[in-house]
Amino acid sequence: MKIERCPACLKPGFETYCNPCLKKIFDGKKVNHQLEFTRPEFNFAKLERSDRLSISGIQIKHSLKLENNKLVLTEKDGEYILKPIPGGVFKNLDQVPYNEHLTMRIASQVYKIDTALNAIVYFADDEPAYIAKRFDRTKEGRKTLQEDFAQIAGRTEETNGQNYKYDFSYEEIAELMNKHIKPYRIEVEKYFRVIIFNYLFSNGDAHLKNFSLYRNEEYGDYLLTKFYDLLNTSIHVPGESDLALDLFKDNFETDAYKSGSKYTKPDFKVFSKRIGINKNRFAKIYDAMLDKTKQVKKIIDVSFLRDDLKEVYYESYKNKLERLRS
Ligand SMILES: [Zn+2]
Repeated sequence: MKIERCPACLKPGFETYCNPCLKKIFDGKKVNHQLEFTRPEFNFAKLERSDRLSISGIQIKHSLKLENNKLVLTEKDGEYILKPIPGGVFKNLDQVPYNEHLTMRIASQVYKIDTALNAIVYFADDEPAYIAKRFDRTKEGRKTLQEDFAQIAGRTEETNGQNYKYDFSYEEIAELMNKHIKPYRIEVEKYFRVIIFNYLFSNGDAHLKNFSLYRNEEYGDYLLTKFYDLLNTSIHVPGESDLALDLFKDNFETDAYKSGSKYTKPDFKVFSKRIGINKNRFAKIYDAMLDKTKQVKKIIDVSFLRDDLKEVYYESYKNKLERLRS
């Protein structure tokens, strides 16, 4: 696939990954953005079952590792997660890898959210896929202790039914964070920013398994892992709810929500208070999140997303921005 910008950071003037990206994502090895194999056969048996129609439910992940300078499929010791175009009934599915890449890039490059390292790769027949570097290994290759919030909350399909990843609230995740994380004050602000980010970029599928904790080997305490699986799901699943989980536990609703059935600033203000963020910090974080339009527009424009969808993507962001301002 001939390209004109780095398929990781999107910097123009490169025909494959730029050197800083090679260093960060591929340990400095001269990996090419074109894989030597075509997409693995779609395996329906690997699909998740859920009551809810969701992008994550149709995305099949493969494991890759580096062999010399080449990315190869592997059953064990995967260093990368490969997500090809999903199969299914949703819209614009051929654009899912570009959407995820763009959204992850906006998160890291504009909002400085600590995300999994990621890039676009192309199969031998030029079909694109999204690739993310795993972050559950130490530099020495040991597996770090890591659990997602479905595990931390003790929720499984067997005990809580097929909707176990969604029948929960972001407030309850924060409560679990408070229980397990010593520097909670710091970590909860990161968490809060990602909740606003997901709302701004219409990521309606950020369920319990999309947040994780890991054990910091140096101090022995628990911290949030990098963030992952961020994408604008509204492009593919129209009519999906704005957020995968309710903001509040026990079906609490603010008066503003009761009158408009949409989350607006008062909801996020009350939410931040309930999860222990003080008024001044809320104002600072919130205003900064809403003040990035120029940078967002710039990355959308240079992304690999199809042109008409760039507009849809930007409009959906503007739409949410308006809501958050009201
Ligand atoms: Zn780059």
